[in-house]
Amino acid sequence: MTALLIALGVCVVGGMLLWERAQRRRLRDRSAELEHLSFELARANRAKSEFLANVSHELRTPLAAIVGFVDLLRDGAYGPLDPRMVGPVDRIQASSAHLQTLVDQILDLARLSAGRLDAQAEPISLRAFVIDVASEVEPLLLGKGLALTVQVPATLPRLRTDPTHLRQILVNLLGNAVKFTPAGRITVRASLVADGAVGAMTRTMAQRPLLAAGGDWVALQVVDTGIGIAEKDHERIFGEFEQVEAGSRGDSERRGTGLGLAITRRLARLLGGDITVESALGAGATFTCWLPVEQLSAKN
Ligand code: ADP
Repeated sequence: MTALLIALGVCVVGGMLLWERAQRRRLRDRSAELEHLSFELARANRAKSEFLANVSHELRTPLAAIVGFVDLLRDGAYGPLDPRMVGPVDRIQASSAHLQTLVDQILDLARLSAGRLDAQAEPISLRAFVIDVASEVEPLLLGKGLALTVQVPATLPRLRTDPTHLRQILVNLLGNAVKFTPAGRITVRASLVADGAVGAMTRTMAQRPLLAAGGDWVALQVVDTGIGIAEKDHERIFGEFEQVEAGSRGDSERRGTGLGLAITRRLARLLGGDITVESALGAGATFTCWLPVEQLSAKN
């Protein structure tokens, strides 16, 4: 009887060992398979970005020719336009300009995804920089009767960042503020936010591991008194081709692409920062571009 029990025990232990070995093999195979899949996925993603970058690059030259010749037509370089032609030529101009923006943005996004865009940091004085960009977009504001205020203290430390990317971020945020503000004011302001005080300025800390990482920041904000964004859409608007109720908001003559904020956020991350939004429907919006202070050079 005892011998039978021992034999049974040996069988059970042996069976368990075999089962464990089979499980281990299955796990090993599964993780190798997952590793292979994730490698393939990354390769496919890179190929997609490369393809998009090449296609949009090829589209740019003929598009620039269309836009250029339509401008010449509108300016009367080939003689006065027949009044019946003015409407259709204006439509060609608006559509080709929209297509040009779309192609430029797809190219930017593809370059960012493929890691083909670098940040060339140099020291900048934020106040002078903001005043320069603001004066560039001022005609847009004046056209809509909006007021513009710049509140960037000259006492802020000089930043080391990529001015081309920062300009694109600010122009995008200002362009949106103008587009989605029917009346009132747009303010560009900046402040130094010490480590630990970030939470008081953004409720979206949980989604911002970068900000939660700590350190001092310069918060560059574009504040508008426009139509605002419902809280449920705060994260969605940063997705590619995402618009809130497309077509029913903003200026109809300034059609958007839904790519601006996706690019803006990626650019901010390329600069070591991020973009957050605080807004409520009907109560305006505040977009904050966080720029890390740890990149400040002691020499500046
Ligand atoms: P678009 O080209 O449509 O402006 P974006 O990616 O720049 O694309 O913005 C995505 C969406 O976020 C916009 O379509 C709009 O619904 C919303 N949005 C962006 N900025 C603002 C703002 N300042 N006020 C209200 N809504 C905004």
